[in-house]
Formats: sequence, structure tokens, C-alpha cells
Amino acid sequence: MKQAVKERIYLSSPHLGEEEQLFVQAAFTSNWIAPLGPNVDAFEEELAAYVGSGHAAAVSSGTAAIHLALELLGVTKGDVVFCSSLTFVASANPILYQGAEPVFIDSEPDSWNMSPVALEEALIEAKRENKLPKALVVVNLYGQSADYSRIRPLCQQYGIPIVEDAAESLGSTYQGNQTGTFGQFGVFSFNGNKIITTSGGGMLVSDNKEAIQRAKFLATQAREPEIYYQHQTLGYNYRLSNILAGIGRGQLRVLDDRVQARRNVFQRYEEELRSWAGIVFMPELQESYSNRWLTALTLDKAELGVTRLDLIHALGLENIEARPVWKPLHLQPLFTGCRYYRHEGRSVSEELFRDGLCLPSGSNLTSEQQERVLEVFKETVSNAPSAKGIAQERVSL
Ligand SMILES: *Cc1c(COP(=O)(O)O)cnc(C)c1O
Repeated sequence: MKQAVKERIYLSSPHLGEEEQLFVQAAFTSNWIAPLGPNVDAFEEELAAYVGSGHAAAVSSGTAAIHLALELLGVTKGDVVFCSSLTFVASANPILYQGAEPVFIDSEPDSWNMSPVALEEALIEAKRENKLPKALVVVNLYGQSADYSRIRPLCQQYGIPIVEDAAESLGSTYQGNQTGTFGQFGVFSFNGNKIITTSGGGMLVSDNKEAIQRAKFLATQAREPEIYYQHQTLGYNYRLSNILAGIGRGQLRVLDDRVQARRNVFQRYEEELRSWAGIVFMPELQESYSNRWLTALTLDKAELGVTRLDLIHALGLENIEARPVWKPLHLQPLFTGCRYYRHEGRSVSEELFRDGLCLPSGSNLTSEQQERVLEVFKETVSNAPSAKGIAQERVSL
């Protein structure tokens, strides 16, 4: 018998609090329906205070924030920029905007983030070839901080500034400090699927006051302070609207709750699935506290008899959204020909892509919805042909 279509369960959907509408209403009432305005200023101050960074510039997206960071670091045509390979394409696109050359660094198994071992190898080789990078874009995947206790000293040694892509890790900490504060620049995103959202938006943070002032200047078409329109620098239209900043202010007030809720989602999945041989959850580095933006795990096909694509398919039939772990950027056709440094002779990012799965992780996921996910998950694995009995590759990458 055909059942009615079940209510859709999303990977990560927006979750509004109580105060967003008040801030947006204030923008309407005062007719600040513009880019810039009191909500923008307040959002910048409030976010900078939350993460413990000196200054912040609200912009139209996380991608725009990364682009501005590279521009401020003087990245230009022909320069090299190192970047995590296991990430969303937005981490590296701005490198191409600048006409620079990305070099991709593998992940390490302990954090799934940039391997300090591969990074050091890449730095040694770059130094030898006299092609040291102008900047390093390090990603905090799914909310998990990269290992800055090892990455930072390497960057200091070689004089390479860090752009911390904390788009997915707002609210996470490492060694007691908020992520986004470990480099010269930190980047956050408020895209609709992130832990808090403005429907679209981003933030660039830094302790460097002049750099943030310059970012705001570049983000408003680099308009010189004259009565007429005077331009001598190439600028961008990257500022955040005062309405969206109002949503952000409301969201910031519930951020800690959202982090706790996502951690609870992770914990439930982990408690129910960790005893299954062949399932490994994304680790949490020592001294780090992840916002668990997405619950990610790897599946050993030999143990379980199913691949992540089998599970994504089975969940999809039940109207549940699940996704593979990011496809590494060095495998993307867009970046064909770019260099890639592996971790200790293996490619951890490719292994994680091959085996990695992200489960619905929204902070508004109900207990019943999580139960549905777990039921389909367990049923699919239980019904899998036994590991040894798999005759053929059922799904290929
Ligand atoms: C979402 C995301 C971005 C880009 O943010 P937008 O606001 O969508 O431009 C950059 N890097 C990572 C790792 C992301 O997940």
C-alpha cells in the first residue's frame, strides 16, 4: 500500500528565535532599508564581542569575506595560496577571483581538517622552489576546529598569514578561544544552512582595525570620501543589508542554544550507532568544542555491506536529506592541474569522501525526526547483504 509522502527532513534548515523580527521591524520603522545602518553596526560589534575579535565587517556572504581577506593580504595574479582540500568550493573560489593559484592540502585523520604534516611538506617544497604562498586558507570542517597548535607555528616559521574559514564553526572553541580568531582573518557565513543565518550574509573578523576599515571601504565600491563619486581602487558591492543584519542580531542571541541543540543531535546519533562495527563518527580534537554543525561519520563498506550512497538513497526514499562529505577540491574539474599534498603517503580527504556521510543535523530537528533517520539507517544496514557476500561494486564514486 502506498503511503502518503512523509514530511521532509532537511540536512540543516534555518531555525529562528524570538527577537529577529523585532530587529527587522526596527529597520522598517526607522526606514533603514539599506545596506549599512544601525543593525549592521550593532551586529558587527556583537559578533566581534562574542568571538573575542577586535573588529568585524558584515558582508553579503562568507565567500565575499574570504575574497576581501585575500585582497587585504595582497594576493594577486600569479601568487600561490594554500587551501584545505576537503571543503566547500567557496573556500577556494576567491583564490581564482584574484588570479592566484591554489595548492591543496590534505586532511589528517584526527580532525578531518588540514594535515600539519602535509602542510609542512608543502611549505618545505615551496620554499625550495621560491614559491611560498601569500596566504593559507584553513577550514574548520563541520564545526570541528583544525589543529592550530601545529598549524600556527608552521605559518609563523614561514611567515604565512592565515585566513581561517570558520564559515561552519561559529560558536566552536579550541583551547578556550572561539574559532575564527586563530588567523590574521576569520570568516563566518550566515547562509541559510549554517548554524545561524541571515538568509545570506557573512562576517570578516580581525584584530587589525585598519584592515577591517579597509574591508568596509572595499566592500562599498571603494568609494573615496568625496562629495562626488571618486574612485581610484577596484571595489566590490559586498556590504550586508540593515534588514538582514537585524536577523543576524536575533540569531546571535540564540547561538549558544543552537550549538547545544546540534551537539545533542550528534550525541543521539552517536549513542545509537557507535556500537555498530564499521561506523566511525567525526572525531573532536582534544581541547576543542565543536558546534557539530553537521553530524558526519564514515562507513566501512566491508564491515557494513553498504556504502554512503546506499544510505543516502534509502534515506531519500523516506524524504530525508543526507549528503556525502565534501568532495575534495583537488578532485574537482574546476581545479584540474592544481597541486595537492597528501597526508603521510595516503589521501585522507579522498578516503573521507569515499566513506563519509552527513546526517540531518538541524537544531530544530525533533526527537521523532531523529528517530525516523535512525530507523531508516539501521534498517538499511540490517538488510544489507553480508559484508563478505558482496559480489559487485553497487555504487561507484
Ligand atoms: C558556507 C561556506 C562558505 C561560504 O559561505 P557563503 O556565505 O555561502 O558564501 C565558505 N566556506 C565553507 C567551508 C562553507 O561551508
